[in-house]
Amino acid sequence: MNCIWCLSPTSAAEPEEHIVPEGLVGGRPLPLRIYGANPSVRDVRLVLDRGEVCGGCNARNGKLDDAVQGYFGFLKPALNRVGTKSGKPATAARPGMYAERREDGVHVTINATDRTRVSPRGVSIGAAKQKADGVRLLPKERDAEGRAGFRLSQPSPLGRRVSRALHKVAFELVCFQVGAGPLLDPRFNPIRDYVSHGRGERRIAFCTKPDSATVLSPSMIFDDGRAVLRLPLESLGEPPSFGLMPCPLGTVEWVAELRLGVPYYIDVSPGNDLLRRFDPRHGSGYTFLVYDDRHGILNVSGAPES
Ligand SMILES: [Zn+2]
Repeated sequence: MNCIWCLSPTSAAEPEEHIVPEGLVGGRPLPLRIYGANPSVRDVRLVLDRGEVCGGCNARNGKLDDAVQGYFGFLKPALNRVGTKSGKPATAARPGMYAERREDGVHVTINATDRTRVSPRGVSIGAAKQKADGVRLLPKERDAEGRAGFRLSQPSPLGRRVSRALHKVAFELVCFQVGAGPLLDPRFNPIRDYVSHGRGERRIAFCTKPDSATVLSPSMIFDDGRAVLRLPLESLGEPPSFGLMPCPLGTVEWVAELRLGVPYYIDVSPGNDLLRRFDPRHGSGYTFLVYDDRHGILNVSGAPES
């Protein structure tokens, strides 16, 4: 057996590789859908444990896992309903925000002041201030009964590290399905270079709205610049699930579907052939957005038509 990332020989004693960060979705089996001629769906533990990934690449991938967990912010405890391996509930922190899953749902504490505050449970929460990734309360228009409201602003720009992390998940999903053998072919080196070394440029697609109509509609206590919000358990609709669609561009070419709050689509062809063909000039009618490492989101109004 050889590592699908660095191609060096491995043994059966390599550490277990979590295809999806365990902190993001928990350690329990999750649905894997296979589309195509013989569709199926089964609950599986999404791990590679036969030496498909060496210990060194496992550790390096962990840094990308951290990037993707940070990207999801307070959505992480909403996605992870089961907590960590050691049984701790999922938590997330950013400047201005601390979120944790409790038995009755996801609790988000917002520090809307300009200095560090301590939550009722003793968690220190820094101020959002001018921090780029800070979580802020934005006032909403008063409703028909004249009540003031707020919505949460959590900047989560898709960037290269998050794209690499999602490509890592997608490539390992294909490995889970077809085995390591076909993926050792040199023609997959562009995906290895991108994930492991950040070389090259790729695109991914994602939808902007969850399929279910549920939205985050917190009840809230706002007190002295410190708000305690409780989000309902079902606030994100469906639990995480994953899918693989055979792509007719080759024999082991796939598009991976990562349903993490909203669906993300990762083209696992070496040349990113499917999404490379996407023409942003025709993109405004699509229900999904396409992210490009060089140009950012391609098909939003005002995006460059390059
Ligand atoms: Zn390796």
